[in-house]
Amino acid sequence: MLNKIAENIYCKEVPLPNNPLRHINVYIIKGEDDRGLIIDTGFNRPECEEALQEAFDELGIQSPDVFITHLHSDHVGLVPKFAGEGSTIYASEIDGEIINFEVGNLYWYILDDMFIKYGFPPADFGRNTDIHPGRKYVHESRIDFKYVEEGDVLEYGGYKLEVVATPGHTPGLVGLYDRESKIYFCGDHILGTITPNITIEISADNPLADYLKSLEKVEKLEVEKLLTAHGTPVPDMYERIDELKKHHEARLAEVQKILGNEWKTAFECARDMTWEIECRNWDEFPAPQKWFATGEAISHLQYLYSVGRVERDELEGDIYYYRNKVE
Ligand SMILES: [Zn+2]
Repeated sequence: MLNKIAENIYCKEVPLPNNPLRHINVYIIKGEDDRGLIIDTGFNRPECEEALQEAFDELGIQSPDVFITHLHSDHVGLVPKFAGEGSTIYASEIDGEIINFEVGNLYWYILDDMFIKYGFPPADFGRNTDIHPGRKYVHESRIDFKYVEEGDVLEYGGYKLEVVATPGHTPGLVGLYDRESKIYFCGDHILGTITPNITIEISADNPLADYLKSLEKVEKLEVEKLLTAHGTPVPDMYERIDELKKHHEARLAEVQKILGNEWKTAFECARDMTWEIECRNWDEFPAPQKWFATGEAISHLQYLYSVGRVERDELEGDIYYYRNKVE
């Protein structure tokens, strides 16, 4: 379905097969002549390509330029196709560099070793990241991005779209904001139905601190229409920001309670945290879900460590263990 959001702005729900998110909202800004800009692309899969083509045909657009909000494969997947057609591909330098680093094995080896350092057990076979959904649909060649940074302005469809950097969900996540219409395309920075996954990434070892700071930052923008990359529209951005802050406060308290007076790894904390997933116990969690849960636990533990509420030490070789600070 193609929804008109505002003058020259449309939203296409692009399916994400076999993914719990179900679809991504791709925003299309119709420019002059047959060009335009799309924000994110969907996976590198025929279902996504067909859905986009359907929207382009309906709007009379060809090979639009592409703005990538962040490095995840449900946002970047089809970029090589557009790059091949001569479209300009915008991204932040941080996420753009990681996207290109993901081509090949080194990125995945480093990520795997990082997780092992935080207590994720080494896989019995191969690498843990072999089970990572991001790796399954990764693009196969480097992309020649046009890098954008905070304050840059892209003009499409009569809008002056300012780049807003909001690190947290990924280190280089960027959104677009139009001051006049008060429309803000936020990517995965704020979502209505789920809380964005906050996890460590190469170049970001305290992502929750970055994320909370980014929420404070966008709270100061005047936003009437918040356009998120997944789920249904968020009627009130400010209310949602409050909910997200409270969610993380509660999570931080939960993690401290789980630590009690013991030393635990992030993996062990993840095992003991509560998750909204239909599994009876931790052993039943599918491997990728254990990975994401551990990432969440790491981001909360690292935050607590950075503000001095917990201490961290390398035990059992060089694995990070945490415990509540003993006064
Ligand atoms: Zn994402």
